[in-house]
Amino acid sequence: MAEVKTQGAVEAMEVAEASRETEWEKPSFVGQLFLGNLDVDLIHPFPEQPAEDKAVGDEFLPKLERFLAENVDADKIDEQGEYDYELFDGFTKLGAWGMKIPKEYGGLGFSATNYNRAIGMVATWCGSTVAWLSADQSIGVPQPLQLFGTKEQKEKWLPRLAKGAISAFALTEPGVGSDPAKMQTRAVPSPDGKGWILNGEKLWCTNGLKAEVIVVMAQTPPKVVKGKEKKQISAFILEMNTPGIEIKHRCQFMGLRGIGNVLIDFKDVFIPKENLLWNEGQGLKLALITLNTGRLTIPAGCAAGGRRMLDIAQDWANERVQWGAPIGKHEAVAAKIAWMASHTFAMEAIVWLTSGLSDRGEVDLRLEAAMAKLFNTETAWQCADHLVQIRGGRGYETGRSLRERGEKGYPVERILRDMRINRIFEGTSEIQHLFIAREAVDPHMKRGYKILQPETPAKEKLAAAAKAGAHYAAWYPSRYLGWSHFPKFGEFGPLSGHMGYIERTSRHLSRSIFHSMMRYQAKLERKQMVLFRIVDIGTDLFAMSAAISYATMLAKKGQKNAIDLADVFCREARMRIDANFSNLFTDHDDAAYRLVLKLLKGDYDWFKGQMVEPVVPTAEQVEEAVRKLA
Ligand SMILES: Cc1cc2nc3c(=O)[nH]c(=O)nc-3n(C[C@H](O)[C@H](O)[C@H](O)COP(=O)(O)OP(=O)(O)OC[C@H]3O[C@@H](n4cnc5c(N)ncnc54)[C@H](O)[C@@H]3O)c2cc1C
Repeated sequence: MAEVKTQGAVEAMEVAEASRETEWEKPSFVGQLFLGNLDVDLIHPFPEQPAEDKAVGDEFLPKLERFLAENVDADKIDEQGEYDYELFDGFTKLGAWGMKIPKEYGGLGFSATNYNRAIGMVATWCGSTVAWLSADQSIGVPQPLQLFGTKEQKEKWLPRLAKGAISAFALTEPGVGSDPAKMQTRAVPSPDGKGWILNGEKLWCTNGLKAEVIVVMAQTPPKVVKGKEKKQISAFILEMNTPGIEIKHRCQFMGLRGIGNVLIDFKDVFIPKENLLWNEGQGLKLALITLNTGRLTIPAGCAAGGRRMLDIAQDWANERVQWGAPIGKHEAVAAKIAWMASHTFAMEAIVWLTSGLSDRGEVDLRLEAAMAKLFNTETAWQCADHLVQIRGGRGYETGRSLRERGEKGYPVERILRDMRINRIFEGTSEIQHLFIAREAVDPHMKRGYKILQPETPAKEKLAAAAKAGAHYAAWYPSRYLGWSHFPKFGEFGPLSGHMGYIERTSRHLSRSIFHSMMRYQAKLERKQMVLFRIVDIGTDLFAMSAAISYATMLAKKGQKNAIDLADVFCREARMRIDANFSNLFTDHDDAAYRLVLKLLKGDYDWFKGQMVEPVVPTAEQVEEAVRKLA
């Protein structure tokens, strides 16, 4: 029943593995959590924004807010499926294209916290605007340029970008999305030795429509390392006015209808030598690090969106009376609002925790950022769904239609449409799960790798087994030992019980990861249903830790009822965690997988029933359409 690994799959895995960041130079809260160690000191006291830095954001945000409220008509942008490009100048005057660019290069030099505060504010108003700003700065040229550019490269491009030259990030292709290692776009050295010649195409490049400069990833000629040919992927900065670049299609979407997202064709495009970013062969690593580093932006937008949705829910739940009571007092509606409030609190805790820690730069946030992306995008989507339900028929009606018939024009259906993509772009939820799972099992993999490899000589296998045995003889029993009850974690007051639960459960989780390794051995990497439950447990534990630390800080500052938000969140998360443990190894998984293999093969085609089949155009009709387009 195990699927066959094709040569292509093996190659893609090898390239992806080679591009993985393997070093852990700084401590990782979540990394330790998976090993059964709760290192509370890494997240508590909560990393509050320093007053000086807060003042910088406080000065900028009201200006941004006024500009959005007075100029950005989010409904109109959505309806016409086109952005209002005159707004770009206004953003330039605000300095919004250079929020993340250091002051020395003409940017605003914002901290991660201030940048995410600004992105959050925009997210409560217009999803398309967030996408323009975020694709430009979170993943577009400024991000990899600051991380990997030379001094000359930074001096050449950063001031231009800060002044509003739009940028974009081009990784995805029609044939490769989640596994970019198999990209087909190629760059070969130009015959005159002055640069590279690029050929291929890139799909769904956000901002590509207006971008002056993009970062593009392409295969460069393979290199022979230790006698074996190694695929190379490199990253380049590309000026979009270079001959040979053609925007072949403007993509239209369910939501974010004002973004400039395109399919780009490259035909013999010359890229000067000095535009290579970082080193040849390190382009995929650069792309993955860029995405990891920029990954906190989407969670920030989701958390702020959560607050906006809660605000609408609160208003409507008070105002709308059905069956003799405001709908918010009917328990089924109250349950949804409680979920939204408590989970929005957790989303916000995660965002300010990770932003604060990122600004301090003392911890490794790779896993936390992936969890933030996973948790906040899934949670915000669920909030949007709850909100549509709470608004009833009005949740399905457009804001304009509501306004035109004299009601409050809450754009709930637009929020839902705009929100959906967050679970897909910059790494889908499934890919975040896989990334986190890979790191969760890594400490055990490293110890077991030689033992599990069939080609390892017996003598080496024995030595590795003895070494691993000695380690686990001490480690495994220690994962049963610990003290998590009062007075431990007393500083968390009413939430100390939940912190104790996290401590006990992290040890339980570490044992379960170990049991999974023993049970499935090398096949564990394919047991995604098990791995995903492990990741979901870890993610809920992280969200609980963040919420508890955040609420404790807020309560100390006088916001005492923040404790209730964290408490309700922890209760809900604990129910999910307990359910995930109960079902960790269930025979449902095999039954479900077997069913799908049969379904994919066509065994259930009888079940399809009668459907209207689309009319397939004839070859002549296609030719005619192409002729008309040309
Ligand atoms: C609006 C929008 C904006 C975008 N902006 C950009 C951009 O600016 N730059 C850019 O480079 N790209 C961009 N993208 C591309 C985006 O990042 C990809 O859509 C995303 O990475 C997923 O790739 P895919 O759509 O090809 O899905 P696929 O990779 O084909 O995946 C399809 C489904 O299979 C799942 N899946 C795939 N592999 C596995 C696996 N091994 N295990 C389990 N499940 C798996 C996925 O999670 C998904 O659910 C954008 C896309 C959209 C729609």
